[in-house]
Amino acid sequence: MVKKTMANAMLSLKDVHKTYSNAGQDLHVLNGVDFEIKSGEIVALMGPSGSGKSTLLQAIGLLDRADSGQILLDSDDITQKNDQERTLLRRQKLGFVYQFHHLLAEFTAIENIKIPLTLNGLEKDVNPLLEVLGITDRANHRPARLSGGEQQRVAIARALIHEPRLLLADEPTGNLDPETADNVFNLLLKSVRVQGSAAVIATHNPELASRMDYILKMEDGKVIKA
Ligand code: ADP
Ligand code: MG
Repeated sequence: MVKKTMANAMLSLKDVHKTYSNAGQDLHVLNGVDFEIKSGEIVALMGPSGSGKSTLLQAIGLLDRADSGQILLDSDDITQKNDQERTLLRRQKLGFVYQFHHLLAEFTAIENIKIPLTLNGLEKDVNPLLEVLGITDRANHRPARLSGGEQQRVAIARALIHEPRLLLADEPTGNLDPETADNVFNLLLKSVRVQGSAAVIATHNPELASRMDYILKMEDGKVIKA
């Protein structure tokens, strides 16, 4: 039976597969992933190390390609796009936060944050987002002069400044101490909610996951709604 797509799904995955070949051994990391999320939902992606969370986020985020299946973003199948279309979609509709901030060392915080605006030809007051994230007074510092938590908040601002439809975050507070992680995580959730973006956030931490709308669990290459 063909499953019907939710009328208001903004992200929909259908039977997504991805296999890696390691020294002649096939590893079926994604083995029929099916799920849907609605506009504005914030969803935790959980599962043990090696279960395929990063692989899945990279396929959704157009950083890698699935082998088969469909990934629909606003009803548009992104698996069928060419490289140029993928670059545009990534730039306009998506935002990313990684475990390590990936800020450009030679630019100040504010210059880093403005990169997506420049790439999209947008002009916008960045101050409200800086305020939500509590980094207004760090705006003119380069990353090396910021603490780990501040660097990660700058990375979050950069991922959200162009108001993406979908934020993807891969263990965004995984390299911070627990107290800082907790703080930064709250600010991340708050800024996503302020913008009304949807988000898929991979985390190991059940307590952080419980603050999101619901949990998607990776198990045997599939995704189960917990
Ligand atoms: P998670 O993020 O849940 O820890 P990953 O998606 O990073 O899981 O990895 C899933 C599995 O795929 C792991 O066994 C990993 O070693 C393997 N894997 C990830 N990326 C590659 C790659 N580029 N080539 C081969 N194997 C990979
Ligand atoms: Mg990972």
